[in-house]
Amino acid sequence: MDIRTRFAPSPTGFMHVGNLRTCLYGYLFAKKNGGTFVLRIEDTDQERYVEGAVEIIYSTLAKAGIEHDEGPDKDGGYGPYIQSERKGMYLDYAKDLVAKGGAYYCFCDKARLDTLSNDSGIKKYDKHCASLSQADIESKIKSGTPYVIRQNIRTEEGGVSSYDDMVFGTISVPYSDMEDGVLIKSDGMPTYNFANVVDDHLMKITHVIRGMEYLSSTPKYNLMYDAFGWDRPLYMHLPQIMKDATHKLSKRYGDANFEDFLEKGYLVPAIINYIALLGWSPSGNQEKMDMAELTEAFDVKGVSKSGSIFDEAKMRWLNAEYIKEMTPEQFAIVAKPYFDKSKVAGKYDYVQLSKLLTSRIEILSDIASKVDFLEEFKGYDLALYDNKKNKMSGTVALEILEKMLPLLQSDNDWTNDSMQVVVNNFIEQGEYKKGQIFLALRVGVTGSGMTPGGATEMAELLGKAESIRRISESIERLRGL
Ligand code: GLU
Repeated sequence: MDIRTRFAPSPTGFMHVGNLRTCLYGYLFAKKNGGTFVLRIEDTDQERYVEGAVEIIYSTLAKAGIEHDEGPDKDGGYGPYIQSERKGMYLDYAKDLVAKGGAYYCFCDKARLDTLSNDSGIKKYDKHCASLSQADIESKIKSGTPYVIRQNIRTEEGGVSSYDDMVFGTISVPYSDMEDGVLIKSDGMPTYNFANVVDDHLMKITHVIRGMEYLSSTPKYNLMYDAFGWDRPLYMHLPQIMKDATHKLSKRYGDANFEDFLEKGYLVPAIINYIALLGWSPSGNQEKMDMAELTEAFDVKGVSKSGSIFDEAKMRWLNAEYIKEMTPEQFAIVAKPYFDKSKVAGKYDYVQLSKLLTSRIEILSDIASKVDFLEEFKGYDLALYDNKKNKMSGTVALEILEKMLPLLQSDNDWTNDSMQVVVNNFIEQGEYKKGQIFLALRVGVTGSGMTPGGATEMAELLGKAESIRRISESIERLRGL
């Protein structure tokens, strides 16, 4: 079978984690099987339309490296299929469905529909127009009475509509639980319920992959395929993404969207990798996978029915794994906007800083907290020298710094290695404990107890003149204690 999948987002805002996952699985499944991946913008519901949302979908997919395979011409490439641009044809399909008995015209006005829901307590259409005579229908249409077209569920037959979902197994819904939903609205536009069926058929979609909120509407859609005489596609509904054990990750949980992840300093391959693991487990143990590896490994057998919890700590961990693999030069490029926003902006060599950071950082927005101290030396807290366990105090630090200053001054190389030699020689004299010496130097040079690298690494970064100046300033302050 020539496998064809599609991603069919509605342009309602940012690209949320759940949407991106649906998109990714559709893409991976198609690519894994040498198939075709289609992008279709479902914008027939003008009320939900958000300005700029189509562009976000487009740019997200481009940044994520997810390319669709066909569509109308756009700037020399493929644009997506856009439902609103295809709106003219849905009415003809709906009329065809009417002719085949799968739908009917409904002329009920709002006032009648309102009484209906008030009387019964539940909003379910009562099939009032299903039994109109052909003559009635024609005269109403002729006289310009507004109408919608509704699906005709043959409740009188008392049937059950079932299908086998590739993830959730057999799903059955009795006709009596279904409603004759609107397929064509009074403005002539199709509803999602109709357009998805027509388009999936016309686009020859073999596997419909989407969120599980459509799991129980699908039997209704299948009745339309049957009434048209079309083959049903196969379905793969995806479990929900949860914020915790009981709460769905909602769109309101603002930062769970692609743009925000980028902003926080997640790398694209890490985002894609993590999202792929939300609801799918690879058969092996390997969790860190790039797009090619994901494509190779993706298998519907690993897709779980139960909701998966969005675990930002794990995503951070995965991101750190990607960062560790970068060279300082590569890291400096992606990290530049974050360095530029930090206090060290323009004052240090970013590649040198990157050498210290790649093994110590999870996401790029943590950069400032790791490097800002370089510029926060002035007036640091002298209590940083106190450490009971090491028998360390400002007094001991003063002795150490006074003794080390001339030794360091005579180091002309001023590299981490050359300073290590100086420090080790001093340790070997045995006057002070290693821990005391390192603490004194680290605080004396950086004014911070927590630095991304060791004291000598930090001194190399700061350069000789600045380091010596800082040690001297620390000595001065300690003398005043
Ligand atoms: N437009 C629908 C949505 O964004 C797509 C559902 C589907 O994939 O069929 O939820």
